Amino acid sequence: MVEADQVHKAYGHNHVLRGVSMSVRPGEVSCLLGPSGSGKSTFLRCINHLESIEGGSIRVDGELIGFRERGGKLHELPAKEAAAQRRDIGMVFQRFNLFPHMTALENIACSPITVKGEKPQVAQAHARELLEQVGLSEKAAAYPSELSGGQQQRVAIARALAMRPKLMLFDEPTSALDPELVGEVLEVMKQLARSGMTMIVVTHEIGFAREVADTVTFMDEGVVVEQGSPHEVLVDPREARTRDFLSKVL
Ligand code: ATP
Ligand code: MG
Repeated sequence: MVEADQVHKAYGHNHVLRGVSMSVRPGEVSCLLGPSGSGKSTFLRCINHLESIEGGSIRVDGELIGFRERGGKLHELPAKEAAAQRRDIGMVFQRFNLFPHMTALENIACSPITVKGEKPQVAQAHARELLEQVGLSEKAAAYPSELSGGQQQRVAIARALAMRPKLMLFDEPTSALDPELVGEVLEVMKQLARSGMTMIVVTHEIGFAREVADTVTFMDEGVVVEQGSPHEVLVDPREARTRDFLSKVL
């Protein structure tokens, strides 16, 4: 489902991604760990072409992201085509980014109506199903300010799912939450994983990674240090840098 091959990205002289490769099969959950500044968010943003890459390639479901091959060369896609690719890739950030003037239901139904041209009744019926899926059926009419952080994040997940993505990217979805609200969001993500969604999750929740991930990637300074099963990377890491990081977050 995702094939990232030798991805390079720099901001000016700051060479942030130095040949990052990762492959995620359909239905797999891949967790990405690493110290602050190692390039995790940048890598996620490259996968849906919120950032352009300078080297390597990224394919999602076989489709080259952000570029088109012509005459053996890569040409960056026009913004409109990149946006069309992005529609199939859901993203959930650390901060919930809900529209404050819209109810939970409206937040979820909004993009399918405005971007995909779904009929409002259809989009709203789907939004109600999604609210049920994230355990918030009662909150359809609530505004974000009336919801807890955990509830807002569950609405944000439902909103991403409303576009029927083939891939979901999560960037530290629980790290801005009070500790007692983390579990409910992780539970929704676990359920989503069980339903067969392909997911890449940047997280410091080692317990979640051990329980849910099919593969774990540990990244430092823009390179993949170690990649393997949760047991290989989190329980029995080969690299000193991985062990050092784990001793700090566990
Ligand atoms: P954290 O765990 O703190 O979220 P991260 O692994 O997600 O860290 P990134 O946010 O990907 O790290 O940042 C990697 C590097 O890229 C950092 O040196 C950062 O300063 C730089 N960087 C990130 N975004 C930009 C940007 N838009 N413009 C310039 N530099 C950036
Ligand atoms: Mg980050």
